[in-house]
Amino acid sequence: MSSAPVVPQAPTPPDGAVAVPRPEGGWEGLAERVLAGGAVSREEALAVLAAPDDELPGQLAAAWRVRRRHFGNSVQLFFLMNAKSGLCPEDCGYCSQSKVSDAEIPRYNLLSAPKLLEGARLAAERHSKTFCIVISARGPSEREMDAVCRIVPEIKSRYDLNICACLGLLSPEQARRLAAAGVDKVNHNLNTSARFYPEVCTTHGYADRVATLAACRSAGLQLCSGGIMGMGETHADLVDMALELRALGVESIPLNFLNAIDGTPLEGSARLTPRDCLRGLVMMRLVNPAAEIRIAGGREIHLRSLQPLGLYAANSMFVGDYLTTSGQLPEADYRMIEDLGFEITRGAEAAEPPCDPACH
Ligand code: SF4
Repeated sequence: MSSAPVVPQAPTPPDGAVAVPRPEGGWEGLAERVLAGGAVSREEALAVLAAPDDELPGQLAAAWRVRRRHFGNSVQLFFLMNAKSGLCPEDCGYCSQSKVSDAEIPRYNLLSAPKLLEGARLAAERHSKTFCIVISARGPSEREMDAVCRIVPEIKSRYDLNICACLGLLSPEQARRLAAAGVDKVNHNLNTSARFYPEVCTTHGYADRVATLAACRSAGLQLCSGGIMGMGETHADLVDMALELRALGVESIPLNFLNAIDGTPLEGSARLTPRDCLRGLVMMRLVNPAAEIRIAGGREIHLRSLQPLGLYAANSMFVGDYLTTSGQLPEADYRMIEDLGFEITRGAEAAEPPCDPACH
């Protein structure tokens, strides 16, 4: 959103100033080890987040080498459709659609099939690789499951789009039904660490979210799961979330930057600088080198003029609006990608990144 205020802010986590030793060989050495198949340790990931600002260019260069190995200069776009808004019985503190939110948002039940098809058309028109169907809910009702399972084959017959469903908690049977209907991927964010989770939600637990991811994995679905920076978590919470995503083998990781919407319990609480956001993206890339890392909600507010630098670590982003807030115009995103010398790619076109001559 171009009207976002530019306010100097303090580092996010209370432990942000804790000195953590730089990895042996520096950021370049860390990239070398990741490219050679090594796994970043918890200490190394913490060091990424705790590094001073003057280390940031070296960190971005390291993340870029790893990103380039797996994704070249490609950028994949995702298009979100809020298929059911508000009215959610859960109490997630960051969410404008929860029962404890007074945010002024549109509230409506599941959109009709023609409206969902229109959303898919828009996603294809905007060069998206993936159309994300999102509903506000603890989990989908039978009627919502039926509607999604009916519309997905219809969308796939008309458009060359992957489908990601974000429907809340899922049972193994629901996950199997989605897979059978042609859903490619399910989004269910861990959001933060197991330790910090009770601070942001009390109506369901971290273990419920992990169980949904396990059910989706068993059903053969790809996993999309990430988190939110800026909710008051520590560096350790962010790192533990990244390590859990690695342990779960998550293919696609959206990293959000809290848009502390008025009327939500976390209203006005996000304390992020653009450099914090970049270090978060770098850490996520180095911990999960082959995963699709997505710059998600809040990028316009928190990365601000540094948004393009985020794409040296991340390889994907949302285009268009978020669930209940506006994104920047798609044309501005296309221009940013073009100015970087990157290319929007869809599906298999991204499969053959150029070889990094500096890679071993
Ligand atoms: S379950 Fe989803 S829609 Fe409901 S409050 Fe939590 S994040 Fe928002």
